[in-house]
Amino acid sequence: MKNDDFRRSGHQFVDWIADYFENIEKYPVRSRVGPGEIKALVPAVPPARGEAMDVLFRDFERIVMPGISHWQHPGWFAYFPANNSPASVLGELLAAGLGAQGMVWETSPAATELEEVVMDWLRQMIGLPAGFSGVIQDTASTATLCSLLAARERATGFETNESGFSAPLAVYASEEAHSSVVKGVKIAGFGRKNLRRIPTDGRFALVPEKLEEALARDREAGLVPACVVATVGTTSSGAIDPLRPVGEICRRHGLWLHVDAAWAGTAALLPEKRWILDGAELADSLVFNPHKWMLTNFDCSAHFVKDPAALVRALEVHPEYLRTGVDAKVRNLRDWGIQLGRRFRALKLWFVVRGYGVEGLQAMVREHLRLAALVRDWVEADARFELLAPAELGLVCFRLNDGRDEDALNELNKRFLDRVNAAGPVYLTHTTLRGKFTVRLAVGQRTTGERHVRGAWDIVTAAAAEVLAA
Ligand SMILES: *Cc1c(COP(=O)(O)O)cnc(C)c1O
Repeated sequence: MKNDDFRRSGHQFVDWIADYFENIEKYPVRSRVGPGEIKALVPAVPPARGEAMDVLFRDFERIVMPGISHWQHPGWFAYFPANNSPASVLGELLAAGLGAQGMVWETSPAATELEEVVMDWLRQMIGLPAGFSGVIQDTASTATLCSLLAARERATGFETNESGFSAPLAVYASEEAHSSVVKGVKIAGFGRKNLRRIPTDGRFALVPEKLEEALARDREAGLVPACVVATVGTTSSGAIDPLRPVGEICRRHGLWLHVDAAWAGTAALLPEKRWILDGAELADSLVFNPHKWMLTNFDCSAHFVKDPAALVRALEVHPEYLRTGVDAKVRNLRDWGIQLGRRFRALKLWFVVRGYGVEGLQAMVREHLRLAALVRDWVEADARFELLAPAELGLVCFRLNDGRDEDALNELNKRFLDRVNAAGPVYLTHTTLRGKFTVRLAVGQRTTGERHVRGAWDIVTAAAAEVLAA
Protein backbone atom coordinates (compact mmCIF):
# COMPACT_ATOMS: atom_id res chain seq x y z
CA MET A 1 0.00 0.00 0.00
CA LYS A 2 1.37 3.39 -0.98
CA ASN A 3 1.53 6.09 1.66
CA ASP A 4 -0.81 8.29 -0.39
CA ASP A 5 -3.40 5.52 -0.45
CA PHE A 6 -2.99 5.14 3.29
CA ARG A 7 -3.58 8.86 3.75
CA ARG A 8 -6.72 8.82 1.61
CA SER A 9 -8.21 5.69 3.23
CA GLY A 10 -7.22 6.92 6.67
CA HIS A 11 -9.19 10.15 6.26
CA GLN A 12 -12.08 8.16 4.88
CA PHE A 13 -12.06 5.70 7.79
CA VAL A 14 -11.96 8.41 10.44
CA ASP A 15 -14.95 9.99 8.68
CA TRP A 16 -16.63 6.62 8.71
CA ILE A 17 -16.07 6.20 12.47
CA ALA A 18 -17.41 9.71 13.13
CA ASP A 19 -20.52 8.85 11.09
CA TYR A 20 -20.82 5.56 12.95
CA PHE A 21 -20.83 7.38 16.28
CA GLU A 22 -23.42 9.80 14.95
CA ASN A 23 -25.75 7.24 13.40
CA ILE A 24 -25.29 4.30 15.70
CA GLU A 25 -28.93 4.26 16.79
CA LYS A 26 -29.90 3.13 13.30
CA TYR A 27 -28.48 -0.32 13.98
CA PRO A 28 -30.15 -3.03 16.05
CA VAL A 29 -27.95 -3.29 19.15
CA ARG A 30 -27.37 -7.02 18.87
CA SER A 31 -26.20 -8.57 15.62
CA ARG A 32 -28.95 -10.52 13.89
CA VAL A 33 -26.76 -13.02 12.03
CA GLY A 34 -26.91 -16.74 12.72
CA PRO A 35 -24.00 -19.11 13.34
CA GLY A 36 -21.80 -19.60 10.26
CA GLU A 37 -23.33 -16.78 8.20
CA ILE A 38 -20.24 -14.57 8.29
CA LYS A 39 -17.81 -17.41 7.64
CA ALA A 40 -19.81 -18.38 4.56
CA LEU A 41 -19.08 -14.95 3.07
CA VAL A 42 -15.29 -15.14 3.44
CA PRO A 43 -13.17 -17.24 1.04
CA ALA A 44 -11.60 -20.23 2.74
CA VAL A 45 -8.21 -19.58 1.11
CA PRO A 46 -6.16 -16.36 1.32
CA PRO A 47 -5.80 -14.09 -1.72
CA ALA A 48 -2.60 -14.60 -3.72
CA ARG A 49 -2.35 -10.96 -4.76
CA GLY A 50 -2.92 -7.79 -2.79
CA GLU A 51 -6.29 -6.08 -3.08
CA ALA A 52 -7.20 -2.41 -3.05
CA MET A 53 -8.29 -0.82 0.22
CA ASP A 54 -11.56 0.33 -1.41
CA VAL A 55 -12.42 -3.28 -2.09
CA LEU A 56 -11.54 -4.28 1.45
CA PHE A 57 -13.62 -1.47 2.84
CA ARG A 58 -16.67 -2.51 0.82
CA ASP A 59 -16.31 -6.00 2.25
CA PHE A 60 -15.94 -4.57 5.74
CA GLU A 61 -19.33 -2.93 5.31
CA ARG A 62 -20.93 -5.90 3.54
CA ILE A 63 -19.49 -8.80 5.55
CA VAL A 64 -18.30 -7.51 8.90
CA MET A 65 -20.87 -4.90 9.87
CA PRO A 66 -23.89 -7.26 9.89
CA GLY A 67 -21.98 -9.47 12.31
CA ILE A 68 -21.25 -6.69 14.79
CA SER A 69 -23.13 -6.17 18.04
CA HIS A 70 -22.96 -2.47 18.75
CA TRP A 71 -21.31 -2.06 22.12
CA GLN A 72 -21.20 1.71 21.64
CA HIS A 73 -24.97 1.90 21.07
CA PRO A 74 -26.80 3.93 23.73
CA GLY A 75 -29.22 0.99 24.01
CA TRP A 76 -26.43 -1.32 25.20
CA PHE A 77 -27.57 -2.49 28.63
CA ALA A 78 -26.11 -6.01 28.34
CA TYR A 79 -23.29 -7.60 30.37
CA PHE A 80 -21.20 -4.64 31.45
CA PRO A 81 -20.35 -1.74 29.18
CA ALA A 82 -17.10 -1.58 27.19
CA ASN A 83 -17.35 2.05 26.25
CA ASN A 84 -14.91 3.90 24.04
CA SER A 85 -14.59 7.55 23.10
CA PRO A 86 -13.18 9.68 20.29
CA ALA A 87 -10.16 10.57 22.45
CA SER A 88 -9.42 6.92 23.08
CA VAL A 89 -9.81 5.89 19.44
CA LEU A 90 -7.42 8.63 18.36
CA GLY A 91 -4.86 7.59 20.97
CA GLU A 92 -5.19 4.00 19.76
CA LEU A 93 -4.69 5.10 16.18
CA LEU A 94 -1.46 6.92 17.01
CA ALA A 95 -0.22 3.96 19.04
CA ALA A 96 -0.91 1.67 16.08
CA GLY A 97 0.92 4.07 13.79
CA LEU A 98 3.97 4.12 16.03
CA GLY A 99 3.84 0.36 16.33
CA ALA A 100 6.09 0.66 19.37
CA GLN A 101 6.54 -2.28 21.66
CA GLY A 102 7.16 -1.46 25.31
CA MET A 103 8.57 -4.72 26.62
CA VAL A 104 11.52 -2.96 28.28
CA TRP A 105 12.15 0.70 29.03
CA GLU A 106 14.72 1.09 26.29
CA THR A 107 12.39 -0.19 23.55
CA SER A 108 10.38 3.04 23.99
CA PRO A 109 10.99 5.01 27.17
CA ALA A 110 7.79 7.02 26.67
CA ALA A 111 5.64 3.87 26.70
CA THR A 112 6.94 2.86 30.13
CA GLU A 113 7.16 6.28 31.74
CA LEU A 114 3.78 7.48 30.51
CA GLU A 115 2.27 4.27 31.85
CA GLU A 116 3.84 4.87 35.26
CA VAL A 117 2.53 8.43 35.46
CA VAL A 118 -0.95 7.80 34.09
CA MET A 119 -1.40 4.80 36.36
CA ASP A 120 -0.49 7.00 39.30
CA TRP A 121 -3.10 9.51 38.13
CA LEU A 122 -5.64 6.69 38.14
CA ARG A 123 -4.57 5.64 41.62
CA GLN A 124 -5.28 9.14 42.87
CA MET A 125 -8.53 9.31 40.92
CA ILE A 126 -10.03 6.30 42.71
CA GLY A 127 -8.61 7.27 46.10
CA LEU A 128 -6.08 4.47 46.54
CA PRO A 129 -3.34 5.49 48.98
CA ALA A 130 0.18 6.30 47.82
CA GLY A 131 2.32 3.20 47.89
CA PHE A 132 0.35 1.29 45.28
CA SER A 133 2.14 1.04 41.93
CA GLY A 134 0.17 0.61 38.76
CA VAL A 135 0.70 -1.34 35.58
CA ILE A 136 -1.60 -1.83 32.60
CA GLN A 137 -2.61 -5.42 31.87
CA ASP A 138 -4.73 -6.53 28.94
CA THR A 139 -7.66 -7.67 31.07
CA ALA A 140 -8.84 -8.08 34.63
CA SER A 141 -8.53 -11.84 34.12
CA THR A 142 -4.81 -11.42 33.51
CA ALA A 143 -4.36 -9.01 36.42
CA THR A 144 -6.08 -11.46 38.75
CA LEU A 145 -3.93 -14.31 37.44
CA CYS A 146 -0.76 -12.25 38.02
CA SER A 147 -1.88 -11.48 41.57
CA LEU A 148 -2.61 -15.17 42.18
CA LEU A 149 0.88 -16.03 40.93
CA ALA A 150 2.48 -13.43 43.19
CA ALA A 151 0.39 -14.71 46.12
CA ARG A 152 1.44 -18.28 45.34
CA GLU A 153 5.11 -17.33 45.31
CA ARG A 154 4.91 -15.27 48.46
CA ALA A 155 3.12 -18.09 50.28
CA THR A 156 5.81 -20.60 49.30
CA GLY A 157 8.87 -18.40 49.82
CA PHE A 158 9.18 -18.08 46.01
CA GLU A 159 9.87 -21.81 45.88
CA THR A 160 7.08 -22.88 43.52
CA ASN A 161 8.74 -21.04 40.65
CA GLU A 162 11.92 -23.01 41.33
CA SER A 163 10.73 -26.48 42.17
CA GLY A 164 7.14 -26.69 40.97
CA PHE A 165 4.03 -27.15 43.04
CA SER A 166 4.25 -29.08 46.27
CA ALA A 167 2.47 -27.16 49.03
CA PRO A 168 -1.31 -27.65 49.18
CA LEU A 169 -2.38 -24.03 48.93
CA ALA A 170 -5.92 -22.67 49.09
CA VAL A 171 -7.60 -19.61 47.58
CA TYR A 172 -10.79 -17.94 48.81
CA ALA A 173 -13.44 -15.94 46.96
CA SER A 174 -17.15 -15.48 47.36
CA GLU A 175 -19.61 -17.73 45.60
CA GLU A 176 -20.44 -14.68 43.46
CA ALA A 177 -16.84 -14.03 42.35
CA HIS A 178 -16.13 -13.82 38.62
CA SER A 179 -15.26 -16.89 36.55
CA SER A 180 -11.81 -15.37 35.89
CA VAL A 181 -10.91 -16.26 39.49
CA VAL A 182 -11.67 -19.91 38.77
CA LYS A 183 -9.67 -19.72 35.56
CA GLY A 184 -6.74 -18.05 37.35
CA VAL A 185 -6.78 -20.67 40.08
CA LYS A 186 -6.65 -23.41 37.45
CA ILE A 187 -3.85 -21.79 35.42
CA ALA A 188 -1.75 -20.89 38.47
CA GLY A 189 -1.82 -24.52 39.53
CA PHE A 190 -3.71 -24.18 42.82
CA GLY A 191 -6.27 -26.71 41.63
CA ARG A 192 -9.91 -25.92 41.33
CA LYS A 193 -10.78 -28.03 44.34
CA ASN A 194 -8.61 -25.74 46.47
CA LEU A 195 -10.72 -22.71 45.65
CA ARG A 196 -13.17 -22.10 48.48
CA ARG A 197 -16.37 -20.37 47.49
CA ILE A 198 -17.42 -18.40 50.57
CA PRO A 199 -21.17 -17.90 51.17
CA THR A 200 -22.72 -14.47 50.69
CA ASP A 201 -25.33 -12.50 52.60
CA GLY A 202 -28.71 -11.13 51.49
CA ARG A 203 -26.93 -8.53 49.36
CA PHE A 204 -24.71 -11.18 47.71
CA ALA A 205 -21.62 -9.90 49.53
CA LEU A 206 -19.02 -12.18 51.08
CA VAL A 207 -19.63 -12.94 54.78
CA PRO A 208 -16.33 -12.37 56.64
CA GLU A 209 -17.21 -14.82 59.42
CA LYS A 210 -17.66 -17.57 56.82
CA LEU A 211 -14.24 -16.73 55.42
CA GLU A 212 -12.74 -17.02 58.89
CA GLU A 213 -14.41 -20.42 59.35
CA ALA A 214 -13.11 -21.72 56.02
CA LEU A 215 -9.57 -20.61 56.88
CA ALA A 216 -9.72 -22.41 60.22
CA ARG A 217 -11.05 -25.59 58.57
CA ASP A 218 -8.30 -25.57 55.97
CA ARG A 219 -5.51 -24.96 58.45
CA GLU A 220 -6.87 -27.83 60.52
CA ALA A 221 -6.74 -30.01 57.40
CA GLY A 222 -3.12 -29.05 56.70
CA LEU A 223 -3.72 -26.68 53.81
CA VAL A 224 -1.88 -23.38 53.49
CA PRO A 225 -4.25 -20.46 52.80
CA ALA A 226 -2.54 -18.19 50.25
CA CYS A 227 -4.90 -15.63 48.79
CA VAL A 228 -8.33 -14.06 49.11
CA VAL A 229 -9.99 -12.46 46.11
CA ALA A 230 -12.64 -9.94 47.18
CA THR A 231 -15.00 -8.48 44.63
CA VAL A 232 -16.20 -4.91 44.51
CA GLY A 233 -19.13 -5.01 42.11
CA THR A 234 -19.85 -8.63 41.27
CA THR A 235 -20.78 -9.41 37.71
CA SER A 236 -24.14 -10.97 38.48
CA SER A 237 -25.52 -8.37 40.84
CA GLY A 238 -22.97 -5.62 41.58
CA ALA A 239 -22.43 -6.87 45.15
CA ILE A 240 -19.68 -5.24 47.17
CA ASP A 241 -17.60 -7.44 49.46
CA PRO A 242 -16.65 -5.64 52.70
CA LEU A 243 -12.95 -4.96 52.15
CA ARG A 244 -12.11 -3.75 55.63
CA PRO A 245 -13.12 -6.84 57.64
CA VAL A 246 -11.84 -9.11 54.85
CA GLY A 247 -8.57 -7.16 54.77
CA GLU A 248 -8.19 -7.44 58.55
CA ILE A 249 -8.64 -11.21 58.34
CA CYS A 250 -6.00 -11.34 55.60
CA ARG A 251 -3.60 -9.30 57.72
CA ARG A 252 -4.07 -11.60 60.70
CA HIS A 253 -3.48 -14.70 58.61
CA GLY A 254 -0.75 -13.26 56.39
CA LEU A 255 -2.80 -13.76 53.21
CA TRP A 256 -2.54 -11.88 49.94
CA LEU A 257 -5.70 -9.85 49.36
CA HIS A 258 -6.57 -9.15 45.74
CA VAL A 259 -9.53 -6.89 44.97
CA ASP A 260 -11.44 -7.46 41.74
CA ALA A 261 -13.20 -4.18 41.01
CA ALA A 262 -13.14 -4.73 37.25
CA TRP A 263 -16.37 -2.89 36.55
CA ALA A 264 -17.24 -0.99 39.73
CA GLY A 265 -13.79 0.51 40.32
CA THR A 266 -14.73 3.35 37.98
CA ALA A 267 -17.49 4.41 40.40
CA ALA A 268 -14.76 5.27 42.92
CA LEU A 269 -13.97 8.28 40.72
CA LEU A 270 -16.87 9.84 42.63
CA PRO A 271 -16.07 10.98 46.17
CA GLU A 272 -19.61 9.99 47.19
CA LYS A 273 -18.96 6.41 46.03
CA ARG A 274 -15.45 5.98 47.47
CA TRP A 275 -16.93 3.93 50.31
CA ILE A 276 -17.02 0.96 47.94
CA LEU A 277 -13.22 0.78 48.29
CA ASP A 278 -13.19 1.39 52.02
CA GLY A 279 -10.42 -0.84 53.37
CA ALA A 280 -8.63 -1.12 50.02
CA GLU A 281 -5.46 0.11 51.71
CA LEU A 282 -5.34 -3.33 53.35
CA ALA A 283 -5.19 -5.02 49.94
CA ASP A 284 -2.04 -6.27 48.25
CA SER A 285 -3.45 -5.71 44.78
CA LEU A 286 -6.49 -4.33 43.00
CA VAL A 287 -7.73 -4.34 39.45
CA PHE A 288 -10.24 -2.20 37.61
CA ASN A 289 -10.95 -1.86 33.93
CA PRO A 290 -10.86 1.55 32.24
CA HIS A 291 -11.95 -0.53 29.24
CA LYS A 292 -15.31 -1.16 30.80
CA TRP A 293 -16.70 2.07 32.12
CA MET A 294 -14.03 4.73 31.61
CA LEU A 295 -14.20 5.58 27.91
CA THR A 296 -11.00 3.71 27.02
CA ASN A 297 -11.45 1.22 24.23
CA PHE A 298 -10.62 -2.39 24.93
CA ASP A 299 -8.06 -3.43 26.11
CA CYS A 300 -6.86 -1.52 29.14
CA SER A 301 -6.97 -2.96 32.64
CA ALA A 302 -5.49 -1.08 35.60
CA HIS A 303 -3.60 -3.34 37.99
CA PHE A 304 -2.28 -1.90 41.25
CA VAL A 305 0.12 -3.69 43.58
CA LYS A 306 1.44 -2.63 46.95
CA ASP A 307 4.66 -4.62 46.74
CA PRO A 308 5.75 -4.68 43.12
CA ALA A 309 8.85 -6.63 44.15
CA ALA A 310 6.65 -9.64 44.93
CA LEU A 311 4.94 -9.45 41.55
CA VAL A 312 8.20 -8.90 39.70
CA ARG A 313 9.96 -11.68 41.56
CA ALA A 314 7.15 -14.03 40.62
CA LEU A 315 7.29 -13.12 36.93
CA GLU A 316 10.78 -11.84 36.06
CA VAL A 317 13.11 -13.40 33.51
CA HIS A 318 16.53 -12.13 32.49
CA PRO A 319 17.74 -13.58 29.22
CA GLU A 320 20.87 -11.96 27.90
CA TYR A 321 19.18 -10.52 24.82
CA LEU A 322 16.81 -8.44 26.97
CA ARG A 323 19.47 -6.90 29.21
CA THR A 324 20.13 -3.18 28.87
CA GLY A 325 22.51 -0.75 30.53
CA VAL A 326 19.78 1.02 32.49
CA ASP A 327 17.99 -1.97 34.03
CA ALA A 328 18.85 -0.85 37.56
CA LYS A 329 17.34 2.60 37.02
CA VAL A 330 14.07 1.93 35.21
CA ARG A 331 10.97 -0.26 35.20
CA ASN A 332 11.01 -3.05 32.65
CA LEU A 333 7.32 -3.76 32.44
CA ARG A 334 7.80 -7.19 30.86
CA ASP A 335 8.41 -8.40 34.43
CA TRP A 336 5.10 -6.98 35.67
CA GLY A 337 2.95 -9.29 33.59
CA ILE A 338 2.80 -12.51 31.65
CA GLN A 339 3.65 -11.66 28.08
CA LEU A 340 6.91 -10.15 26.91
CA GLY A 341 5.62 -7.78 24.24
CA ARG A 342 3.49 -4.88 25.43
CA ARG A 343 1.20 -2.57 23.55
CA PHE A 344 1.44 1.16 24.20
CA ARG A 345 -1.92 1.35 25.94
CA ALA A 346 -1.00 4.26 28.19
CA LEU A 347 -1.33 6.62 25.24
CA LYS A 348 -5.08 6.20 24.80
CA LEU A 349 -5.59 6.31 28.56
CA TRP A 350 -3.60 9.54 28.77
CA PHE A 351 -5.74 10.99 25.97
CA VAL A 352 -8.93 9.96 27.75
CA VAL A 353 -7.98 11.41 31.14
CA ARG A 354 -6.73 14.65 29.59
CA GLY A 355 -9.48 14.88 27.01
CA TYR A 356 -12.29 14.57 29.55
CA GLY A 357 -10.54 15.66 32.72
CA VAL A 358 -11.37 14.04 36.04
CA GLU A 359 -14.51 16.16 36.25
CA GLY A 360 -15.70 15.08 32.82
CA LEU A 361 -15.30 11.42 33.74
CA GLN A 362 -17.03 11.98 37.07
CA ALA A 363 -19.95 13.67 35.31
CA MET A 364 -20.41 10.66 33.04
CA VAL A 365 -20.39 8.18 35.92
CA ARG A 366 -22.71 10.32 37.99
CA GLU A 367 -25.20 10.50 35.13
CA HIS A 368 -25.09 6.72 34.63
CA LEU A 369 -25.75 6.19 38.32
CA ARG A 370 -28.67 8.62 38.19
CA LEU A 371 -30.16 6.77 35.23
CA ALA A 372 -29.73 3.36 36.86
CA ALA A 373 -31.43 4.69 39.98
CA LEU A 374 -34.36 5.80 37.83
CA VAL A 375 -34.71 2.25 36.48
CA ARG A 376 -34.48 0.84 39.99
CA ASP A 377 -37.27 3.19 41.11
CA TRP A 378 -39.45 2.19 38.15
CA VAL A 379 -38.94 -1.50 38.97
CA GLU A 380 -39.89 -0.89 42.57
CA ALA A 381 -42.94 1.16 41.65
CA ASP A 382 -44.43 -1.46 39.31
CA ALA A 383 -46.05 -4.41 41.12
CA ARG A 384 -45.37 -6.74 38.19
CA PHE A 385 -41.63 -6.53 38.82
CA GLU A 386 -39.38 -7.62 41.63
CA LEU A 387 -35.96 -6.07 42.36
CA LEU A 388 -33.52 -8.92 43.03
CA ALA A 389 -30.41 -7.04 44.24
CA PRO A 390 -29.73 -3.66 45.87
CA ALA A 391 -28.70 -1.78 42.66
CA GLU A 392 -26.22 0.54 44.36
CA LEU A 393 -24.23 1.27 41.21
CA GLY A 394 -25.07 1.18 37.52
CA LEU A 395 -26.63 -2.30 37.43
CA VAL A 396 -30.29 -3.16 38.05
CA CYS A 397 -31.29 -6.81 38.56
CA PHE A 398 -34.97 -7.62 38.34
CA ARG A 399 -37.58 -10.05 37.10
CA LEU A 400 -41.27 -10.38 36.51
CA ASN A 401 -43.04 -12.01 39.43
CA ASP A 402 -46.76 -12.75 39.34
CA GLY A 403 -46.57 -15.36 42.06
CA ARG A 404 -46.34 -18.52 39.92
CA ASP A 405 -43.87 -21.20 41.09
CA GLU A 406 -40.12 -20.70 40.67
CA ASP A 407 -39.68 -22.97 37.66
CA ALA A 408 -42.52 -21.29 35.85
CA LEU A 409 -41.14 -17.87 36.79
CA ASN A 410 -37.79 -18.79 35.28
CA GLU A 411 -39.52 -19.81 32.06
CA LEU A 412 -41.63 -16.67 32.03
CA ASN A 413 -38.61 -14.41 32.53
CA LYS A 414 -36.65 -16.12 29.76
CA ARG A 415 -39.53 -15.42 27.39
CA PHE A 416 -39.72 -11.87 28.71
CA LEU A 417 -36.03 -11.19 28.07
CA ASP A 418 -36.22 -12.69 24.55
CA ARG A 419 -39.16 -10.40 23.83
CA VAL A 420 -37.26 -7.34 25.08
CA ASN A 421 -34.24 -8.12 22.91
CA ALA A 422 -36.28 -8.96 19.82
CA ALA A 423 -37.34 -5.32 19.55
CA GLY A 424 -33.88 -4.11 18.39
CA PRO A 425 -33.16 -0.79 20.11
CA VAL A 426 -31.97 -2.34 23.38
CA TYR A 427 -29.95 -5.32 24.50
CA LEU A 428 -30.16 -6.76 28.02
CA THR A 429 -28.68 -10.01 29.34
CA HIS A 430 -29.38 -12.30 32.28
CA THR A 431 -27.84 -14.13 35.18
CA THR A 432 -29.15 -16.34 37.95
CA LEU A 433 -29.28 -15.20 41.56
CA ARG A 434 -30.00 -17.98 44.08
CA GLY A 435 -31.45 -20.00 41.23
CA LYS A 436 -33.72 -17.21 39.99
CA PHE A 437 -33.48 -16.23 36.34
CA THR A 438 -32.58 -12.56 36.62
CA VAL A 439 -32.70 -9.82 34.00
CA ARG A 440 -29.74 -7.43 34.22
CA LEU A 441 -29.83 -3.84 32.99
CA ALA A 442 -26.39 -2.20 33.13
CA VAL A 443 -26.18 1.52 32.32
CA GLY A 444 -22.74 2.65 31.14
CA GLN A 445 -22.51 3.65 27.51
CA ARG A 446 -20.97 7.03 26.77
CA THR A 447 -24.03 8.26 24.88
CA THR A 448 -26.76 6.65 26.99
CA GLY A 449 -29.06 9.39 28.23
CA GLU A 450 -32.41 9.61 29.95
CA ARG A 451 -34.20 9.33 26.60
CA HIS A 452 -32.62 5.91 26.01
CA VAL A 453 -33.36 4.64 29.48
CA ARG A 454 -36.99 5.76 29.19
CA GLY A 455 -37.17 4.10 25.78
CA ALA A 456 -35.74 0.91 27.25
CA TRP A 457 -38.30 0.98 30.01
CA ASP A 458 -41.13 1.35 27.47
CA ILE A 459 -39.84 -1.75 25.68
CA VAL A 460 -39.50 -3.62 28.97
CA THR A 461 -43.03 -2.80 30.12
CA ALA A 462 -44.54 -3.60 26.71
CA ALA A 463 -42.78 -6.97 26.67
CA ALA A 464 -43.93 -7.61 30.24
CA ALA A 465 -47.56 -6.94 29.30
CA GLU A 466 -47.28 -9.29 26.31
CA VAL A 467 -45.74 -12.25 28.09
CA LEU A 468 -48.03 -11.89 31.11
CA ALA A 469 -51.07 -11.85 28.81
CA ALA A 470 -49.93 -14.85 26.75
C1 LIG B 1 -15.73 -8.06 33.58
C2 LIG B 1 -15.22 -8.63 34.84
C3 LIG B 1 -14.07 -9.42 34.86
C4 LIG B 1 -13.33 -9.82 33.61
O1 LIG B 1 -12.81 -8.75 32.95
P1 LIG B 1 -11.81 -8.94 31.71
O2 LIG B 1 -11.09 -7.65 31.66
O3 LIG B 1 -12.68 -9.19 30.53
O4 LIG B 1 -10.94 -10.10 32.01
C5 LIG B 1 -13.60 -9.85 36.08
N1 LIG B 1 -14.24 -9.57 37.21
C6 LIG B 1 -15.36 -8.83 37.24
C7 LIG B 1 -16.02 -8.52 38.54
C8 LIG B 1 -15.89 -8.34 36.04
O5 LIG B 1 -17.01 -7.60 36.07
